[in-house]
Amino acid sequence: MQKTRQPWSSDQYSAGINPEWQMVLANLLSPQKFPLELQDIVNKVSTGQRLSIEDGLILYNHPSLTDVARIANAARQARFSNDVFFNHNVHVNQTNLCILSCKFCAFSRTKKSADAYALSIDDYLQQISLYAPFVDEVHTVGGLHPDWGIEQYEGMFSAVKKMFPNIHIKALTAVEVNHLSVISGLGVSETLIRLRDAGLDSLPGGGAEILDDSIRDIICRGKETTAEYLEIHRCAHEIGMPTNCTMLYGTIETIEQRLNHLDLLRRQQDESGGFQCFVPYPFLPDSSRLPEAQLATGTEILRTMAISRLMLDNIPHLKAYRMNLGDEISELALQFGADDLDGTVQQESIMHLAGSTTPLDSDMSQLAKIIYNAGKIPILRNSKYTNFTEYIATDPKTKPLKGKGVSLRVI
Ligand code: SF4
Repeated sequence: MQKTRQPWSSDQYSAGINPEWQMVLANLLSPQKFPLELQDIVNKVSTGQRLSIEDGLILYNHPSLTDVARIANAARQARFSNDVFFNHNVHVNQTNLCILSCKFCAFSRTKKSADAYALSIDDYLQQISLYAPFVDEVHTVGGLHPDWGIEQYEGMFSAVKKMFPNIHIKALTAVEVNHLSVISGLGVSETLIRLRDAGLDSLPGGGAEILDDSIRDIICRGKETTAEYLEIHRCAHEIGMPTNCTMLYGTIETIEQRLNHLDLLRRQQDESGGFQCFVPYPFLPDSSRLPEAQLATGTEILRTMAISRLMLDNIPHLKAYRMNLGDEISELALQFGADDLDGTVQQESIMHLAGSTTPLDSDMSQLAKIIYNAGKIPILRNSKYTNFTEYIATDPKTKPLKGKGVSLRVI
């Protein structure tokens, strides 16, 4: 009989991190066991010093991906041991109508499009009700509807809370918050406070793309600026609302611009402290969108995951976003610094229209299998990373095969 831990809890800022993680990390990493050109970086990581952008460049250019993974895996191992977190959620995209046309986006439609949609509040509730018995979070992002003001979202969120009071609402990217504040004639803080009072619990962090206005002007002209993205998240943190942050890479940015993006996020975190999880994901190409995109290969995805873990020394969690990466790369990412998988998800449109083939019907057993096969322990969490329960698989097919689950372990 497998022995399980008792459920445990945390505050939303430490989000389940081992309070002794720095000491553990110092014991896990020994600079002498790494090639000479990485020893300074290993020394910094093990003694709690922040990596510079130049350090990030060394990690991007280092020939051994395994060495980079060893450092990142130690950084995650010190914080969370072998635990990998997931939750029960459903994605409901409220509308695909959008006034913008970002070059990488396969989701947005105009009013003239035959497949444009905008869910009524009843339709929105109906979609959630299909999954409500199985989920504790609804994740809602969508287009910038040309006519919907804040009242529409207040109506949606308050209706969810009335019907499903235990469901956490994680909704609206920074650009949606910005759009609502403009269309409703409100400041950003006032907009967030009204949405919070209607039931909004957290922001998912999408829309950061690359935080460099010269890149944004090409790939997502009209979206919020770098400063606006950070300011919107700062305002959310100031009212106690946790947020995630993201990076869309593999379009036209340079490695330096990616590293600068990470630096901006950690500086914002130093000031406002409310980022809980970073979610890096590569651009998924098709023939019609952004043909000039450089695209990210498998090893680049894993290297970016590892470097994210090391550069973002003050953001607790790092997510392998299955809807974008797929289950196989996500499983590998758990050896490269990631400690979180997106949840049971149930339904999702944005990445699937962009070409994702990740199954949407994943139940807990399937998620647990991915985690076990990476040599880790599945932990069910709530949305704010304050309550945790070890998940014990009962289906024998879920258990790791003998010999699997350890071969790729890097420390
Ligand atoms: S990425 Fe968002 S803002 Fe940009 S076109 Fe698509 S839905 Fe609209």
